[in-house]
Amino acid sequence: MSLFDSFAMVDWSGGNDTGPTPRKDAIWACVVRDGKVRALDYLRNRVVAETWLRDLIETELAAGRRLFLGFDFPFGYSQGFTEAITGHDDPLALWDWLETQVEDSPNANNRFDLAGLINSRFGGKGPFWMNALRRDIDGLPRTKQDYHNPFPDRRAVETRAKGSFTCWQMAGAGSVGGQVMMGLPVLSRLRHAFDGKVAVWPFQPLDKPVAFVEIWPSLNLGSAPPDQIKDAWQVEQVALTLSRLSDQELTEQLDVSAPEEGWILGVPQDRPNIAPPPLRNDCFALPAGVNWTPVDEALALLQSRLHPVTGIETVPLLQSVGLVLAEDVVAKRSNPPQPNTAVDGYGFAGPAADGAQVMPLTEGRAAAGIPFDGQVPPGHALRILTGATLPKGVDTVILEEDVTLKDGHIAFRGPLKKGANTRRAGEDVVEGDTALSARRKLTPADMALLSAVGIAEVPVHQALRVAVLSTGDELVELGDAAGAGQIFDANRPMLMSLIGRMGFVPVDMGRVEDNRDALRQRLDEAAAQADVILTSGGASAGDEDHVSALLRDAGAMQEWRIALKPGRPLALGMWSDTPVLGLPGNPVAAMVCTLIFARPALSLMSGEGWVEPQGFEVPAAFEKRKKPGRREYLRARLRDGRVEVFHSEGSGRISGLSWAEGLVEIEDGARHIQPGDPVRFIPYGSFGL
Ligand code: AMP
Ligand code: MG
Repeated sequence: MSLFDSFAMVDWSGGNDTGPTPRKDAIWACVVRDGKVRALDYLRNRVVAETWLRDLIETELAAGRRLFLGFDFPFGYSQGFTEAITGHDDPLALWDWLETQVEDSPNANNRFDLAGLINSRFGGKGPFWMNALRRDIDGLPRTKQDYHNPFPDRRAVETRAKGSFTCWQMAGAGSVGGQVMMGLPVLSRLRHAFDGKVAVWPFQPLDKPVAFVEIWPSLNLGSAPPDQIKDAWQVEQVALTLSRLSDQELTEQLDVSAPEEGWILGVPQDRPNIAPPPLRNDCFALPAGVNWTPVDEALALLQSRLHPVTGIETVPLLQSVGLVLAEDVVAKRSNPPQPNTAVDGYGFAGPAADGAQVMPLTEGRAAAGIPFDGQVPPGHALRILTGATLPKGVDTVILEEDVTLKDGHIAFRGPLKKGANTRRAGEDVVEGDTALSARRKLTPADMALLSAVGIAEVPVHQALRVAVLSTGDELVELGDAAGAGQIFDANRPMLMSLIGRMGFVPVDMGRVEDNRDALRQRLDEAAAQADVILTSGGASAGDEDHVSALLRDAGAMQEWRIALKPGRPLALGMWSDTPVLGLPGNPVAAMVCTLIFARPALSLMSGEGWVEPQGFEVPAAFEKRKKPGRREYLRARLRDGRVEVFHSEGSGRISGLSWAEGLVEIEDGARHIQPGDPVRFIPYGSFGL
């Protein structure tokens, strides 16, 4: 048995009777059963429509058929409204309340008065607006100028359905506010007339023979063929389309949660924030028999084994800077949206010929945001200011500095090319183009770009949370007294701030002594709170190297011996499905390994993809002999176009990290660098710091 036998769609109207001739602004309804159109009816007003609906429901019930009845107006208002009006958050209570308030007859109704009355309860400036009547109505603003809406302007679904109107706008082409107010009382009466036979989606389970469902034909349909009435064509298309869905497809579309505001069938709900599958337990396995892994091989291995680990959510643009786009973002508007002038000056129809030009000035002016409505006649010029939309008759602008002004005329010297000093519509970005691609880590510049092209919210990967944990019996907390043999924990403040600068969220997991139980417990806590765990210390294979020992015991640890200086082995493993990057304890090695290994690994896991730092060749200001077999990173900085290195390569010299402004990278082979030889310098900034 299929979910429904008959599919009827209704395109509602909030207006009055439009007469006997089928017209677009009245009510249209279509019934499809067994794949065939059974009726396509013009219903000239709501009284006719209500009778038609009663007859339909009666017929379908009598025949034992299940009826899907779609209406193209919201079944609920934005969050909070129902409760404010009825004292309950049950939208069906609001239906009943409206039923008692609305007066409707084919030629007149009280929708504007009722909107004004409701507004008066909230201070008289909203939530409803627009009055199509000649007479003023107390509390109902005619325009949005003095409008204040105490409720969200849009329902959640409307922020996802491009081009939808709000339920608050009571009049104007395409608006639905009037339709909701004039439609819900009818649905309320029908629901009670067929008590127990009707379920309302998505507020009630659809376990009755009749379902009322909110639809919006413009959601998926293109424009109607030119010889057809749009509303008639649309109800037919929607009815046919829905009747052709499999039960499973329809069930999926109907599976939404929107307890108060309702939803539009077919608009996908936010994907539940299910994190992607965890990394494989063996993702850090190294090829057998390898002794010292070259840096590039280690990096390639990380790149091939890791994938994004955070969920996806939609956030307002202002909260998105630094986050990673999960999908391509398409421009909703061109930039610039209209052709405009790039300078202050005088606009006319170009080109201007060589030699002296005199043009009479047209009265008025065009400024940014204040367009000139008229037409500038050929041979005339108009005062125009930077950013102003080019008025009709203007395609070229002469700079005001190049013009003399006298007796209502301008004079200047040509030639001037057609289009000079203007910007074409869409010359920067065209509506529909991809403005930014998935994996983009959003920058302040992107905020301007996305705003300009009308993007108010963006799908992003949730920020990657990185737990930072120090290990070692010798460590004391900054501010505590440090006894003999003790040192302050220097890594955690460094790593926490590195994580933050690189655009991830640091989670402070404190310090833990070299004790397996304590470490085990802390790793459990870290795994519960973060997407990745970064430890420092204890990563080698010594007696007190508990990080590696624990991970080894858990069967998920690899000691990566990388041919790299400075750096001791990295311990890489999985702890309760959470990747652990075990850095060396030595702060210099810990920082270098973070920049070279952890950063691209974390970027990949954050959804940004693999990142490589941009370096460049600069003449060396130093001499150095290097043996083959491992890659070296020297603490370095640029001075007078040459790169100098810290006087000591000692890996305990933390001050060299501060002295430096980047790293010199020396390739794996042997090298004898003389002053003036090119070496590769990577500024800290290239690591995102
Ligand atoms: P480990 O990797 O635990 O053998 O430590 C190597 C060196 O780094 C030792 O000298 C440690 O004392 C030092 N060290 C380890 N952790 C830290 C830390 N959080 N801050 C400063 N030094 C550290
Ligand atoms: Mg240690």
